[in-house]
Amino acid sequence: MTEATATARADRLAGLLEERGLDCLLVTDLVNVRYLTGFTGTNGACIVGPEERLFLTDFRYVSRAEDEVRGFDRVRAGRDMLADIARRLEGRAGFDDDHVTVKAHAKLAEHSEAELVPAGGLVERLREVKDEDELRAIADAARLADEVFELVAERGLAGRTERDVALFAEQAMRERGADDPSFPAIVAAGPNGALPHAVPRDVEIPSAALVVIDMGARLDGYCSDCTRTLATGELDGTARAVYDLVLTAQETALEAVRPGAGRKQLDSLARELIDTAGHAEHFGHGLGHGVGLEVHEEPRLAQSGEGELEAGNVVTVEPGVYLPGELGVRIEDLVVVGEDGFEVLTHFPKTLVTTD
Ligand code: ZN
Ligand code: ZN
Repeated sequence: MTEATATARADRLAGLLEERGLDCLLVTDLVNVRYLTGFTGTNGACIVGPEERLFLTDFRYVSRAEDEVRGFDRVRAGRDMLADIARRLEGRAGFDDDHVTVKAHAKLAEHSEAELVPAGGLVERLREVKDEDELRAIADAARLADEVFELVAERGLAGRTERDVALFAEQAMRERGADDPSFPAIVAAGPNGALPHAVPRDVEIPSAALVVIDMGARLDGYCSDCTRTLATGELDGTARAVYDLVLTAQETALEAVRPGAGRKQLDSLARELIDTAGHAEHFGHGLGHGVGLEVHEEPRLAQSGEGELEAGNVVTVEPGVYLPGELGVRIEDLVVVGEDGFEVLTHFPKTLVTTD
């Protein structure tokens, strides 16, 4: 991360603190710490205020912090890092109540003169709007996963086990430079595909079945996420109809993505089509979610989603229909909300791909 990026992010955060009447914010969640400082180690925290940019870590990470952390004063914390942090907080000090444990909070309170104010979600709000570097990283991760989708389809599915296909895909992502898969790949054939979070089994994929494949790569810390449902031969009428329905729902919602589109309304667009086709109870999850340093982050596209999309959001659009004991179809694109529309980052075909 460049110093300019770190400074820009910390300045935006300082603006949010002012709105909340906070003098500083203690950031302890490691994903948020990475977003603000560039630090990738497993023990670090930072304090951000209008004039304050302080990063703390323990002796193990001092040299890594020198390499990675920009735009912050770096401090090697004492043996009791939390107590050390507590002593540096002043005035109305926000802390991340979504992540600080009760035990950690007690220690902060014990060692600090500051007023500790719950202020979770502020860095997450910043993370909803991606900058150019982030958009590039996510697009690269998506492209890498696209290539792996091609490989998986070329290699064929029928006769291989779900686990074999998932391991192959994860290995192929790493070979192409991914840090990791952004989550364990899902490969779910036939009835197993009716479980939205199916775990790949040591079971051979049959022919003439639908196979849900959901995977993504993590590259430079940023995630991608894509689902395609492939066929291993001629499908029966039900499977074909469900596929066409999900594709129509997906494309309808996708076409409506733009700044100002309601998060709930987008979900409704897909949901009403699926409901009308008689599958109301077979679409049990939200339409989509934000993607960035974490594969599931804000903003959520769901009936519970509040507010609207804005330029710079990166979200998935992924309706699904799941017929218990029978089959599942999910089609998921990763999308950037642009200034007046959207840009799709996932390019593997959505028209039904049939492979052996
Ligand atoms: Zn996914
Ligand atoms: Zn997803």
